[in-house]
Parts: sequence; structure tokens; C-alpha cells
Amino acid sequence: MSAPIIIVGAGLAGLRTAEELRRAGYEGGLVLLGDESRLPYDRPPLSKQFVRGETDDTTLRPAEFFEEKAIDLRLGVAASGVDTAARRLRLADGDVLDYSHLIIATGLRPRRLPGLPDLKGVHVLRDHADAAGLRAEVESARTALIVGAGFIGCEVAASFRASGLAVVLVEPQPAPLAAVLGEQVGALVARMHRAEGVDLRCGVGLDTLSADADGRVRGARLADGSEVPADLVVLGVGSRPAVDWLADSGVALADPADGGGVLADEVGRTSAENVWAVGDVAAWRHDTGAQVRVEHWTNAGEQAKLVACALVGAQPPTAARVPYFWSDQYDIKIQALGTPSAGDEVSVVSDDGRKFLAYYSRSGALTGVVGAGMTAQVMKARAKVAAAAPLAEVLPASQPATA
Ligand code: FAD
Repeated sequence: MSAPIIIVGAGLAGLRTAEELRRAGYEGGLVLLGDESRLPYDRPPLSKQFVRGETDDTTLRPAEFFEEKAIDLRLGVAASGVDTAARRLRLADGDVLDYSHLIIATGLRPRRLPGLPDLKGVHVLRDHADAAGLRAEVESARTALIVGAGFIGCEVAASFRASGLAVVLVEPQPAPLAAVLGEQVGALVARMHRAEGVDLRCGVGLDTLSADADGRVRGARLADGSEVPADLVVLGVGSRPAVDWLADSGVALADPADGGGVLADEVGRTSAENVWAVGDVAAWRHDTGAQVRVEHWTNAGEQAKLVACALVGAQPPTAARVPYFWSDQYDIKIQALGTPSAGDEVSVVSDDGRKFLAYYSRSGALTGVVGAGMTAQVMKARAKVAAAAPLAEVLPASQPATA
């Protein structure tokens, strides 16, 4: 009997790859292995409904599903190394497994800030255990400091305001989400948080934290010297790919300065034979030749399908892939289609003081659309974004393109 396909990482990308392999007709042995002990679960609700106490369960598939699909789900065990020449995976519990193909789906680990004291009440948010620990403290907290106004920081700020906490949100960049969506749209997001009562401080970072006699955080000093009270702190300062276990494996990795991750081609093949990478950990080659790592939910499912099709030799989906992500903050859904980036030209075509719609372009060609509370308008722009249509085609007549 030939060795199974082994998927390392039982998160969204790992689970979807297992599902897609079965859907594509693969009938051989299939192991889905993860270091967390929970059934594979969804992460987006963790910073939203889960942390607000509105939902308890974010499980993606019940236990029976894995039996039905003959997926050998092994939880609570980490992969610790791989010998790609021998096609052998080493586990942290000492076990060794042979594989026919290995799929790397180990996602990200949250960053922490160096030099901070180790205090109670200071959290990161990546997995279920992080979210459960945070949620347990929300009820008794009154003041929260969130460091970093990226997607996680902004969503947690919105959730904490809904839970009645006073929130200080600090961001070294000039605006929330500025690194992803640029300063102009970041300013519109800043306006929303301020309108909801968040004390948003941009252009400033965290200096240090202070604690009471029990070692519980009570406040912070910011880099501008100001002091803020905080009995709950969330560090939303980004994540790094979970690739430590691949050291010495020979699988080529991206330079951490470029975002790191596992280098892969446009269907997920890595530099090592029969080794693939998918999801947040994977830096896939794009049409432009750039190796790009995408940290969004929809991408994990799309890549899973492409890997499964390539692996079994099935026909891949023919529809053009248009990257998509969303973020829920207060009653507003922020959505993005395409590849909007901070360096693009931005044309805000609608803004009612809270909801907005912005087109992104490069050299006059549409790269993306970003909307807040504008679902229909964002989705309507899909074909134009997919075709990189001239910006002029989507701008209202009253707002001609300048590029
Ligand atoms: P993960 O979900 O991180 O799964 C990787 C798994 O591999 C983890 O269980 C990890 O513990 C395990 N693992 C790591 N190393 C090993 C090892 N050596 N051995 C075994 N197992 C290992 N995206 C959106 O588009 N919209 C949103 O609103 C949104 N909200 C989010 C909110 C939060 C709080 C978070 C954390 C993410 C959010 N995302 C959102 C992003 C989305 O959830 C991710 O893109 C998606 O989870 C990626 O899936 P993944 O399987 O690649 O990685």
C-alpha cells in the first residue's frame, strides 16, 4: 500500500485541502495532522462574535465528517521535521510517518513585542485558546489598550466597544489599515472608530506596560510619553509564518524581510518533490512573478482547490480568481476585491460620513475596489477588477480619472 498524503496543519487551509482532494477523486490514505487539540475551526469569529460572547462554537466540521470522508484526523500533535529525500515526516511525540505527498498548511504565529514584561491581562489573538483567554477577561475589564490597528486590532476595538469597554487603540502608522489600504482609506476607517468612541492614537507606538503587585497589567506608557490606563491589553502587531519545523528540510523559504513563508509556484508546489504549501503560510508565485503570501480566509479555500486539482491531475477551476477579503467592524462590513495596495492611486467615489466606496488603480488600470457598508457596489465591480479595466470606466461622469 502506498504511503498517505499528509497535511500538516488542521486549520482552514488544511481542512479544505483534505476536502478538495476527496472531491477531486483521491481515494488513497489521507492524514490531517494538527498541533491544536480542537476539531478544525474557523478563526474570523474569534475577534468578533466569539470574543463578544455571542457564539461558543466555531467548529468547521463535526467529528463524523472525518470518518465519512476517511480522513485520518490526528490532533494535538505537532510536526517537528521533514526528510524530503526519504519522504518522511517527524512528529514531536517521536513518531515518524511516511508520506506520498506532504502539504504544508501550518498558518501563522502571532508576533509579540520584544522587551515587554510578561504580565497577566496581556493577550495576542490567533487561536481559539487566545480568544477564550481574552473573552474570560472582557467582562471584568473596564479599560483596554489595543496595540496595532490592523484588521485584528480594529475588529477587537469594535468588539470591545460593543462590550462596553473604554478603548485606546494605538498605531505607529498614520492611520488604521494604512499599510494595506493606504492612508486615504485608513483615514475613513479612523473616522469610524472615533465616531464609536475609540481613543485612536496614530503615529505613536507602545513604550512599556505597568502592573500592580499581582503582576496584572494596569496601564501603559506610549512612545510620546503619554500614560493610558489599561486592565486589558491586546497586541495586534502581526504574525509570522509557522515554518520553524521546516528548518534543515531543504524546502525553500521566502526571506522573512519579504514576509517569509514557504515558496511555492502558482499551484502550490514547493522546491521539494511532492511537497506543497497552502494558506497563510504559503508564498505563491503570482502572474507578476512576485511571491505573495495572502492572510485571508477566501484565499485558503481557493488555494486548497488548486493544490488538490494539481495533485490528482484534475481540471482546475477556469473562472478568473479575484482576491477577496472582508472585515466586520461595528455594523459595517469592510470588503475588498482585487489587489488594492497602499501604493495605488485611490479614488473615493462615495462617502456618506461612515460608509464609503473607493477604487484603486495603477497607471490608470483598476487594481481593486474597497467598500465599507457597500456590499452590492463592491460585488458589482468584480468583472471590471478581474479585467483590470480602465479606471475611467468605473468612475462617475462627474469624477474623471486623472491618471
Ligand atoms: P491557520 O488557520 O492558522 O491554521 C494553521 C494550523 O496549523 C493551526 O491550527 C496551527 O496551530 C497548526 N500548526 C502550526 N504549526 C504546526 C506544526 N508544526 N504541526 C502541526 N500543526 C501546526 N480573514 C478574512 O478574510 N476575513 C476575516 O474577517 C478574518 N478574520 C480573522 C480573525 C482572526 C482572529 C484571525 C486569527 C484570522 C482572521 N482571518 C480573516 C484570516 C483567516 O482566518 C486565515 O486566513 C485562515 O485561518 C488561514 O488558514 P490556515 O489554515 O492557512 O492557517
